[in-house]
Amino acid sequence: QKKLHLSEPRMFTHDLFQSLKHVENLRDGLQEAIDKKQLYVCYQPIVCCKSKIPWSFEALLRWDFNGDLVNPDIFIPLAEQSGLIHDIGAWVLNRACIDASQWQHSPNASVSVNVSIIQLMDDDFIHILDKALKTSKLPPQRLHLEITESMFADNKGKVRAQLDAIKARDVQVSIDDFGTGYSSLSQLQTLNFDTVKIDRSFVQNIDEGGEAIIKATMFIANQFGSQTVAEGIETELEAQRMDEMGVDYLQGFLFAKPMRNDDLRIWVEKLNS
Ligand code: C2E
Ligand code: CA
Ligand code: CA
Ligand code: CA
Repeated sequence: QKKLHLSEPRMFTHDLFQSLKHVENLRDGLQEAIDKKQLYVCYQPIVCCKSKIPWSFEALLRWDFNGDLVNPDIFIPLAEQSGLIHDIGAWVLNRACIDASQWQHSPNASVSVNVSIIQLMDDDFIHILDKALKTSKLPPQRLHLEITESMFADNKGKVRAQLDAIKARDVQVSIDDFGTGYSSLSQLQTLNFDTVKIDRSFVQNIDEGGEAIIKATMFIANQFGSQTVAEGIETELEAQRMDEMGVDYLQGFLFAKPMRNDDLRIWVEKLNS
């Protein structure tokens, strides 16, 4: 309940709060959302810093609650609290793998899927992953799982075992929102991530200390052989400064906002024409 007020309120209108209160049971509400196709996945390009060619597309969940767009920063925590994240997460993973397997416009690009730590800690997660890969026939190298770093501290051993199982399948692992959590450097080293995603708060506050943090992150990522993505790139100047610091890939509104799958195809076709 408290989370409702703490999260970014920008799309959380009073009306929506009233309607949510009327959803007797959140599980029914979100389950219904899946059934009624109120939940859908948008994709945001992550492009190569040098060539601007799309390298991956991040799957971002959307909930259209009778015309109100509910921000995932609000409903993901609710889904985590209620346990619904297991169903929703499995649905997103499956949807994203199927969509990516059919991207004739970008046969080599990956799809990046956010995985909540609650999903990751579930004994069934690897089974769900295998099923999504099998159903979609997506080559596992084209799947990246994004895991937020703030979550690791309490679950070190199990996180490690799950990440080993994921990597044994050739699926790639990214550490999300890097710099915002409490991961120790040694933990980062033993967990061995393929990609480090630099949080947009550092990109957008580059002159107030962000630059030092990005440089430190780049140093660490290079030491461990991880690739780097900078999130929240909104201006040419930001893109240029990331390039100067050696960041590999960029994501942000400068290139594109998250788009529905059909619009993504149009966006890529335009890019290629
Ligand atoms: P995230 O994983 O850090 O995703 C990036 C967020 O930054 C997205 O917000 C995206 O729309 C936003 N963004 C991208 N470029 C820019 C930019 O240039 N400027 C600004 N201001 N924002 C930008 P979104 O879609 O609202 O998602 C919020 C968070 O919700 C995500 O943060 C992620 O933690 C979570 N989330 C979204 N979809 C899923 C999902 O399927 N599963 C799970 N577990 N979490 C999800
Ligand atoms: Ca993410
Ligand atoms: Ca992020
Ligand atoms: Ca985030």
